Amino acid sequence: MKKILKDTTNNEERKELKEKFQSETISKLYHKGEEDRATSLADKHHLAYVDLSLVPVNSETLNSVSKEVAQKANLAVIYKVGKKYKIAVTDPENYETKKFLKDLKKQDGASYSLVMVSEDSLKKAWANYDKVTVTEKFENQNITLKEEDLTEFEKGITTIIDLKKRISEINTTEIFNIIMAGAIKTKSSDIHIEPNLDYVRLRYRVDGVLQDIVNLPKKVHGTIVSRVKMLSKMKLNVSDSPQDGHFGIDLENTTVNIRSSILPSSFGESIVLRILSDEGTGLKLDELGFNQYYLELLEEQLLKPTGMILVTGPTGSGKTTTLYSFVRRLNQPSIKIITLENPVEYRVEGISQTEVGEDTGMTFADGLRAVVRQDPDVVMVGEVRDAETAEISIQAALTGHMVLSTLHTNNAAGAIPRLLHLKVNPALIAPSINIVIAQRLVRTLCEHCKEEYVPAQETIDKIKSVFKNMPRNNRLEVPSDIKVIYRSSGCSKCNFIGYKGRIGIYEMFALTPHIEKIILGNTSSSDISKAAREEGMISIQEDGILKAIEGKTSLEEVRRVTGEIFVAK
Ligand SMILES: [Zn+2]
Repeated sequence: MKKILKDTTNNEERKELKEKFQSETISKLYHKGEEDRATSLADKHHLAYVDLSLVPVNSETLNSVSKEVAQKANLAVIYKVGKKYKIAVTDPENYETKKFLKDLKKQDGASYSLVMVSEDSLKKAWANYDKVTVTEKFENQNITLKEEDLTEFEKGITTIIDLKKRISEINTTEIFNIIMAGAIKTKSSDIHIEPNLDYVRLRYRVDGVLQDIVNLPKKVHGTIVSRVKMLSKMKLNVSDSPQDGHFGIDLENTTVNIRSSILPSSFGESIVLRILSDEGTGLKLDELGFNQYYLELLEEQLLKPTGMILVTGPTGSGKTTTLYSFVRRLNQPSIKIITLENPVEYRVEGISQTEVGEDTGMTFADGLRAVVRQDPDVVMVGEVRDAETAEISIQAALTGHMVLSTLHTNNAAGAIPRLLHLKVNPALIAPSINIVIAQRLVRTLCEHCKEEYVPAQETIDKIKSVFKNMPRNNRLEVPSDIKVIYRSSGCSKCNFIGYKGRIGIYEMFALTPHIEKIILGNTSSSDISKAAREEGMISIQEDGILKAIEGKTSLEEVRRVTGEIFVAK
């Protein structure tokens, strides 16, 4: 088996592996890693090969066959529609596998197709059984714990597993406290409590991804709803219309603010609680994950006294964190910084923050006009989303201010057509804008359970062709050969998720004379992308793949966030 655990691989083993790789003449079947063996076997049996590290398996699909049966038959159900199964196997000739498939075919209307996976892949799929919570129900609620505060609860919970156990042991009235404590402990950003016909689904959003925690019995739903309504000062007797509110939770040294929202659904009211944490907003420029080329480009732009820096990306892509890091970087006693935000969620010392939006009766444009009269050096405008804000921002950037803002576009090049759409004069774009950045967030692999593995040759080939088409005048270090990539199996340190924390992946370009010429011509966003690549820009996906090769994240995660891996032109 070629699974290489990071901390157990010594130099000799590495050398040995290297030699094996270099020896092209030795049989492919036994010396080029398990993923490759699976591809060869797939060819032999005329089956498709799948790398389950790259294609995540849905846990409900997996559960159409129990773990015991799946392991005995050495397979996993990876896709199922009605009675059509797609089944991953490592050996279609295996006696138990064949026996299972024969029995399956006897079922009324059932049919299946097979795909070939490696043993590692299969084990990874089986590991998902342990994460599944759909069938978990608990009846034992007779144990009454004495009244303890949230901090006490929090101390007892170290992982999601502990949390599940805890929830199943306590009485109805305390469940809400445990839910809150668990979310804070796991650094979740949101709690989703969704009633179904006969249970209540509890999920946490951890590092941007929803995780099933446990299914609660339906009878606790009413108690939780009342508790949230009471804390959030919502109307207790209203259950047929949406309600919003907020409340705080006092921890030992700090208060956590929670924004609550209740929405009627067919099985009762569903609840979403957002935990407002300022974690991440204190990050420094070099902690955001910029590669060396981008970091240098940014440092250079941040030294300029005037002009605009635009950060683009969808909601939840970390734009605000990036803007705050710029603000912190520029924050000095001699510099006046004013921000316009909707809403102001985090306070930064030494700068003046103004809230705009419906509640304040002031738009971004109104606020910006007022702010410019205050003679600031730096203005941070939460978002440019209308023609008026765009125009004033550009004017401010042209008249001696540094303007930091965000735009809602998919890629960096898309910012230019978006500004033109907002009626900005094309001749003013290059003189006013210094740099455009686009970003996404990928989860970082847990350092404790991360492991190297040998991907299939076709995966390596794909990565290599991506690198081959990548601009190289940016002096970024690109490996000439790829032997291993990284994945994780999950451990108690990462709540068995396999990831912990997030890092940005980026693309950016400065408005150079070359790009200005393109903008003034007949502009499409692909022309701008092409010009930006000529200047050295690598795409968000390419930046992500480089981080996957370094082991900061997984290829699977880059794919989840940026889509299918493709070779840029
Ligand atoms: Zn881990």
